[in-house]
Amino acid sequence: MFKLSKKIKLLPPYLFLEIDKAKGKARQEGRDIIDLGVGDPDQPTPAHIIEKLYQAARDPSTHRYALDQGLLGLRKAIAEWYEQRFNVKLDPETEILPLIGSKEGIAHFPLAFLDEDEYSLLPDPCYPPYKGGTILAGGKPYLMPLKEENAFLPDLKKIPLNIIRKAKLMYINYPNNPTGAIAERDFYKDVVKFATKNKIIVISDLAYSEIAYDGYRPSSFLEVEGGKDVGIEFHSLSKTYNMTGWRIGWACGNTKLISALAKVKSNIDSGIFSAIQLAGIAALEGSSQYIKDMCRLYQERRNTLIRGLNSLGWHTNPPKATFYVWIKVPKKTNTSVSLECRGEHSRTANSIKFSALLLEKANIVVTPGVGFGKYGEGYIRMALTVSGERIQEAIERLKRIL
Ligand SMILES: *Cc1c(COP(=O)(O)O)cnc(C)c1O
Repeated sequence: MFKLSKKIKLLPPYLFLEIDKAKGKARQEGRDIIDLGVGDPDQPTPAHIIEKLYQAARDPSTHRYALDQGLLGLRKAIAEWYEQRFNVKLDPETEILPLIGSKEGIAHFPLAFLDEDEYSLLPDPCYPPYKGGTILAGGKPYLMPLKEENAFLPDLKKIPLNIIRKAKLMYINYPNNPTGAIAERDFYKDVVKFATKNKIIVISDLAYSEIAYDGYRPSSFLEVEGGKDVGIEFHSLSKTYNMTGWRIGWACGNTKLISALAKVKSNIDSGIFSAIQLAGIAALEGSSQYIKDMCRLYQERRNTLIRGLNSLGWHTNPPKATFYVWIKVPKKTNTSVSLECRGEHSRTANSIKFSALLLEKANIVVTPGVGFGKYGEGYIRMALTVSGERIQEAIERLKRIL
């Protein structure tokens, strides 16, 4: 009786059902799970931001519908932050649009530009809303594989001409979830050239710009000459200020792209709770010392994990940014764990089997790479969102089962 739409049926299948079930069962049984699966900061939102929300929520003027385009004060704070951080000038009136978390904008953006039979060029593996948003808008995904031999950058020369002709959008995301890879400016320059020549809109997802290590400072796509002529950048308070649950982010860049997204959104939502916007201003205007301390914490955890993995023989490069470590499913080690994952029928779901096994034998939750796309197969993702002690404990457990 209830026939699903074609678009819903085209959405990628949910691959984590078995693991979710196993995780739920393990929790019910009271097993001591170490969850390296979720990309959600474990540290609290800084106190001054919470304090600002508390004050603002007591002011009745924040209780009514917010303006669709966000408070001017928030847009000004974002412009100021972008200029300080990236030396990119943005007009708060026309080049910035606050969002109910950047995921919302990322997923809605294709509705403004994609018609049937038009393509989004998507990295694979990738953050799932790029694909979901494309399909729900009626467009078609074209997958650009992110491979280790290309430093997990898409190879633009490999995209066929007949696809390029029908491509309208291209998503890029550096520092990258799930691979932890970074992009240098030369890559952004190539993307601007490619997009200008082929009239393709660039969507840069910069969610992890502030989570970086060893002195590395990620750049913005909009820093590159011509970037603002072809692109829009999505940013978020979620990872920078441990505010994932608050739902606040923004889009910025080319004014035509911003106003098209605003038009879509004016038909869907009615803005962000004003008290949260005021707390967002407090976040952006607050001291950046807090971000430095947070990165130091993640960096220590990263070092503990990488050292541990290398001691297991799972040689893994330390990521320069993001709180993810992208690990090859071990193939040649003579371990019972990896052997059980190399059965005849397991080639396509190796990473799922391996993840299920880690949960069953070691009570460790990781994310199978194939969940981010078919080119993620052969990898698992671990998140640095648990304490260093728990990471060390995870390594000890892995040692025990090998
Ligand atoms: C976490 C994340 C975001 C941010 O999502 P919000 O909706 O702003 O919380 C965006 N892109 C990627 C790749 C992410 O991992």
